[in-house]
Amino acid sequence: MTTATDVPAATLEEKQRVFAEIEADIRFPGFLKGCYECGICVAACPSARFYDFSPRKITQAVARQDVELVWEQMNRDVWDCSQCFSCLRCPRGNNPGGIITIMREVAVNNGLRSAKEALEGYGRIIYKIMGTGTQVSPDMIQPEAFPDWGPETRDVSANLQLWRKALPPETLHTTSTAWEVNDKTLTELYLIWHLTGVLDMIKAIDAGLHMILGDVMEEMLEEQGYQV
Ligand code: SF4
Ligand code: SF4
Repeated sequence: MTTATDVPAATLEEKQRVFAEIEADIRFPGFLKGCYECGICVAACPSARFYDFSPRKITQAVARQDVELVWEQMNRDVWDCSQCFSCLRCPRGNNPGGIITIMREVAVNNGLRSAKEALEGYGRIIYKIMGTGTQVSPDMIQPEAFPDWGPETRDVSANLQLWRKALPPETLHTTSTAWEVNDKTLTELYLIWHLTGVLDMIKAIDAGLHMILGDVMEEMLEEQGYQV
């Protein structure tokens, strides 16, 4: 976790520009109605129990258009949220977790250092999900990656092909992806990620990962007759 002194410097204009992106998000009006300062969201929030973190402070900073504090929160606090949405019980009808989602997305889109640091450990998982269209694959579950899972991980990884073949759905008889994804579905996913700007978001935080994913996707899309 970063401290206040780690928050990168920025001009007031830059902070206002970033804040305007948060307010311009189509979901924003539905997520912020005002704030009673009742603290119910804090009482419900698991992250508030373990970190110096408060969904109330974030909601209030955004409601007050306190661009200085919002900038600090985007560079520090928002990454402590576990996105569980227990704070949806807000009596004012706010969605503090949703506001934080927007703040994180704006942080990613702007390539903020906090976003890069928060996501740097997830490159392999992002590559797997976006490259194959499925979640973490069985062959990623290796004993050295999950030492706390005990000897069972070793047994399963040693006989992975056999275990997967034992599963009734044939689409699960694969080890390099969570399940088989056909070319039509994968093409649609690649197009969605290109056209909705998801790849641009990745470019802002990890240029290397963006280049690898771009190569994988463009090859497939060109094979399917698309020019991106
Ligand atoms: S979504 Fe975030 S802010 Fe809301 S309760 Fe969960 S951890 Fe707390
Ligand atoms: S529960 Fe809602 S009204 Fe109460 S402090 Fe949190 S955001 Fe504000």
